[in-house]
Amino acid sequence: MQPAPVKSSIHSLTLPVLKERLVSMGHPGYRAEQILQWVYAKRVDSFEAMSNLPAALRAGLAEEFGFHALEPVRVTGSEDTTRKFLLKLTDGALIETVLIPANPALYGEASDRLTLCVSTQVGCAYGCKFCASGLDGWTRNLGVGEIVGQILRAEALSGERVSNLVFMGMGEPLANFANLMTALEILNAPWGVGIGARRMTLSTSGLAPQIRQLADNPLQVRLAISLHGATNEVRQQIMPVNRKYPLEVLLEACEYYSNRKNQRLTFEYILIEGINDRPEDAAALVKVARKVDAKVNCIPYNTVAGLDWTRPGEDRQDDFMAVLRRGGVTATIRREKGHDIAAACGQLRRQTMVATEGEAKAE
Ligand code: SAH
Ligand code: SF4
Repeated sequence: MQPAPVKSSIHSLTLPVLKERLVSMGHPGYRAEQILQWVYAKRVDSFEAMSNLPAALRAGLAEEFGFHALEPVRVTGSEDTTRKFLLKLTDGALIETVLIPANPALYGEASDRLTLCVSTQVGCAYGCKFCASGLDGWTRNLGVGEIVGQILRAEALSGERVSNLVFMGMGEPLANFANLMTALEILNAPWGVGIGARRMTLSTSGLAPQIRQLADNPLQVRLAISLHGATNEVRQQIMPVNRKYPLEVLLEACEYYSNRKNQRLTFEYILIEGINDRPEDAAALVKVARKVDAKVNCIPYNTVAGLDWTRPGEDRQDDFMAVLRRGGVTATIRREKGHDIAAACGQLRRQTMVATEGEAKAE
């Protein structure tokens, strides 16, 4: 007997695609709007609940599509700090999604900005030397429904609406390009989740061809580049991707992006003691940031269990920032621990996996 075909997730379909699927199933296309309204406006989790649809259509939908809810395995953090959700996918793989409230120092006490840090792959193939996500290699891409599902799950668990998305969780978003693009369309669309494109930021380790491809897409999403080294010498020591796309190639793609989108990029720069935190590193960073008119976001490195890297002391961080500012670069540094988006990502899953293997205790 043939195994039953895996049903597509209802969260993986755009409005036009769902219309086509309905028509090929012999149903009127206009039902697609109604269905997606149940899914995204009313957030139901079964076709049974779609009470204005004929019973035959509901039964037909349940045969073709599933809801594949992401199962929360562990939640850490509290309401006014960062909350991390460890989620189990239908094949048992674990990913994490992190909910980050607005920092009152930056946005004021009254801000209702709520940012979700989303994963795009299980593991990561790019093997940056400092990163927890790359430690166990790459397992697979997330499907469209698994990307969209993270937002739905985080909103259901927290009872709040997410206002901003950052694709800075586990994985390299631009290495899962096609699924990411469809997910962005669903997350942005008025018939979908309805989050403005300007409130979404993709972070990439620097896949130059995909940066250009994204530049040609009309969605005005923001782009952050994980630079971490402003010369090829420093960068390729910690980011193997730099051998494939060296700085000059990456910077050209960055220029193309900011020109096409008329947008300033952000360079993320983790400060790692003794690796990229010297005054000459800061001077090199001034040069590249000015070349593409990028803002710089410095992040003191967060230690990862099993890795030897550490963050420089605050004086050294201040010296680094001073060189950037003197060089005329718009630069910020993120110091508070609980709000550190990057630190949050990739590490919870690893702790849990290590703990389950009995090698260490989870936090
Ligand atoms: N793969 C993408 C997005 C995920 S990583 C990328 O590399 O951009 C999101 C950000 O967290 C990246 O800037 C990454 O370099 C950073 N990061 C990874 N490990 C970190 C750590 N231990 N401390 C601080 N930032 C880290
Ligand atoms: Fe992958 Fe990004 Fe981590 Fe590098 S920093 S290993 S690209 S997740």
